[in-house]
Amino acid sequence: MANVVLRDVRKTYAGGFEAIKGIDFEVGDGQFCVLVGPSGCGKSTLLRMVAGLETITGGEIDIGGRIVNAIEPAERDIAMVFQNYALYPHMSVYNNMAYGLRNRRMPEPEIDTRVQEAARILELGTMLDRKPRQLSGGQRQRVAMGRAIVRQPKVFLFDEPLSNLDAKLRIAMRVEIRKLQRRLKTTSIYVTHDQLEAMTLADILVVMNGGRVEQIGNPLQIYQKPATTFVASFIGAPPMNLMPLRADEIRTQFAGDSRAAGEAGILGIRPEDFVISSETIAGGIALDLTVEAIERVGAETFIYGTRQLEIQGIAANPGELPPGEVIVRIPGAVAPAIGERIRAVAPREKLHLFSADGRTRID
Ligand code: ATP
Repeated sequence: MANVVLRDVRKTYAGGFEAIKGIDFEVGDGQFCVLVGPSGCGKSTLLRMVAGLETITGGEIDIGGRIVNAIEPAERDIAMVFQNYALYPHMSVYNNMAYGLRNRRMPEPEIDTRVQEAARILELGTMLDRKPRQLSGGQRQRVAMGRAIVRQPKVFLFDEPLSNLDAKLRIAMRVEIRKLQRRLKTTSIYVTHDQLEAMTLADILVVMNGGRVEQIGNPLQIYQKPATTFVASFIGAPPMNLMPLRADEIRTQFAGDSRAAGEAGILGIRPEDFVISSETIAGGIALDLTVEAIERVGAETFIYGTRQLEIQGIAANPGELPPGEVIVRIPGAVAPAIGERIRAVAPREKLHLFSADGRTRID
């Protein structure tokens, strides 16, 4: 087992494109780290650098106390699971799992022990003679996992391993991967652009944007206290409502908070932090909305409303905001009618405040 440390890691591709612009973080021994971010943010590049499939043009990557920058992929003691599984179609499940070990000239009895053990853990025992085309997508994904497990590597690397599966299977496999990792306690780095997958899998979540780390930490902490408006809108679905506020509105709404003094900013409220109520909440905020659309998904309902000009800050002066769309999430299937006017209120402790450029969390 091993920790993985990245120190000021950089990647400039041939042609001069800077895909990774100086990244630092550590994945502790046995931890599950998820790299998440929009398409093109550099997460696959970073994972491939840890794997040794991409050269490192700056900084250091350290696996288990050894700097691996100049070490060949096969010598890094890692195993990678890809989204296309990369199984050999003409080989049986057994031979797919055994292949890498045979290449390393491991004795057959030892190979057999490892393959049987992996097959038992992954419930592939009855399928060892089948070819990949005789398996379902989820079973193929398990074989790809099995091939990583038998190597007994220090680190597992996953590159969007579930993206070829349908929604139901994705959820089932997500749970399986997490259970497996808890059981094997192998340090893991997992790339996805799916924020829900990221939230549910990660011990440590790295949110990336434009070749940089936007925020790093425990997923729930990131959800509760996003460091920037990028993180606030990327983590959580539907995304946090963000509304620009003028300096005087901020002074009124965040009275007594010295950090919020003097400048314009952006107010954030998560859809689930509103309640529909005619009452106001002292110190909180109230938005008068016209209901434009409703989505009922059973256990909860999403209300899409247009905000009226006035924002009823409960402090002295009601502020003025440009009208805009606000999403409110309420439990259950009860909902107002389209065109109805409602008041959505949120308490003070659920309000997020960011700088006007969205780069800094103020409160
Ligand atoms: P996705 O979720 O779409 O896979 P990603 O976050 O994994 O995206 P990367 O594949 O790491 O992103 O790519 C990061 C950036 O580097 C992109 O802008 C991409 O176009 C660029 N890039 C990737 N590979 C190369 C290459 N071989 N040469 C030049 N630029 C590249």
